[in-house]
Amino acid sequence: MKPLLEVLSDARRRKVAVGHFNFSDLTALNAVVEAARELKLPVMVGVSEGEREFVGVREAAALVKTKREESGLPIFLNADHTHSLAKAEDAARAGFDEVIFDGSALPFDRNVADTKRAVEALKSINPAILVEGEIGNIGASSTVLEKKPENMSAHTTAEEAKQFVDATKVDVLAPAVGNMHGMLESMVSGEAHKRLNIERIAELENATGTFMTLHGGSGTDDEDFRRAIKAGMTIVHVNTELRIAWRRGIEAALKKSPHEVAPYKILPSGVDAIKEVVLARLKLFSFLS
Ligand SMILES: [Zn+2]
Repeated sequence: MKPLLEVLSDARRRKVAVGHFNFSDLTALNAVVEAARELKLPVMVGVSEGEREFVGVREAAALVKTKREESGLPIFLNADHTHSLAKAEDAARAGFDEVIFDGSALPFDRNVADTKRAVEALKSINPAILVEGEIGNIGASSTVLEKKPENMSAHTTAEEAKQFVDATKVDVLAPAVGNMHGMLESMVSGEAHKRLNIERIAELENATGTFMTLHGGSGTDDEDFRRAIKAGMTIVHVNTELRIAWRRGIEAALKKSPHEVAPYKILPSGVDAIKEVVLARLKLFSFLS
């Protein structure tokens, strides 16, 4: 299997993006793998600290390794938003392909220093692991929100991006460019969409020359997604949309079969609902639709 670095380089050259989807159970993982298999596309799956707590760090790595071997697909595992070095190192030791060391809540200089230390520590465990660093607050939770999170950062500037990447040596940068974790009700209903600062994305790409990830992709305007990918976003994260689909799918199955108690008869409805979202997003990110 091609290493993640090569898959990302390919994607960047072709000006497409690799989809990144979170999972906290087999419902979501099976859905993502089925969608990737159907479209024959590489895909990234991620587990945040909370998701890892439920799934288990080594369990997540074993599940993805098995899916990869069984499907023959390039499926990569990312330790999403990791706030402590100890947890980042656990993921690296378990065999994750990427770790996001998230120091974005820290003052900029401290974020630079901690991220630099994390890059060195993680590469000493696995020289092939990719490390992503983050600048700016774009909210923290992949949920349906009542209002925009407080203290959202101004958009990342080319100067701070370059300074951060040069000093930390991260492989991937996650900037703030109009994106936000979670979705407002108006985005869930489709009345409103997130809009991205495309010009800024192009400036960041020029200034840093590094891979960039668009976090908080759920509810983004389709055309902005396309333009952001053309401008330099190589990884796109979608989580909240999958969680909403999971809930709707499971609720529909429970309602349809009020006396059913076999989980494997209820959960496939969640898989189908999530898979539909993943298929649509993967097609969009690869310009197949
Ligand atoms: Zn994120």
